[in-house]
Amino acid sequence: MADALGEILLTEEQIRRRVAELGRQISADYAGLELTLVCVLRGAVVFLADLIRHLSLPASIDFMAISSYGSDTQSTGVVRIVKDLDDSIQHRHVLVVEDIVDTGLTLAYLLDNLRNRSATSVRVCALLDKPARRRVPITLDYVGFTLPDCFVVGYGLDFAQRYRGLPHVVVLSPEEVCPRG
Ligand code: 5GP
Repeated sequence: MADALGEILLTEEQIRRRVAELGRQISADYAGLELTLVCVLRGAVVFLADLIRHLSLPASIDFMAISSYGSDTQSTGVVRIVKDLDDSIQHRHVLVVEDIVDTGLTLAYLLDNLRNRSATSVRVCALLDKPARRRVPITLDYVGFTLPDCFVVGYGLDFAQRYRGLPHVVVLSPEEVCPRG
């Protein structure tokens, strides 16, 4: 399976260190407060599981699923809620935990929706950012890594539901050359 994939962009160790740093930074920024982590299914599950273990503050978890690419690698721009939060976020500090932000269409829709629910604050923590293909302006409060415009899998990210369990982040296709900024 692994030999059908391309270049490893982020090793397990790089990810481990960066997630720990993010956890420390978030813990410092929200010191004395309680957080609601809103995990965007399904790709962000692995990141969430690691991140929460580096938070030194009370944090609850809730899940949301929104439609994205299906089995293709191109954004359709079609976004809808497939699964909503179980609990209210009114008067809560919300941190949206995303796997990857590409065009930004999915997150823009999600933030718009969450900001209409009277949360005290809504911020975003994205493990991966691919700014080259952004179609809507979005502020990412915490970013793990900025990546070139390549389709990646691993560490929760899939292609047709495969590769989520890989411990590193790797380019899907061996032929794809990632433009470096
Ligand atoms: P956006 O709406 O920002 O274009 O896309 C966000 C969603 O598209 C992500 O949450 C993810 O599900 C999917 N996506 C975008 N880029 C990639 C990528 O490089 N690899 C994978 N596996 N999914 C991606």
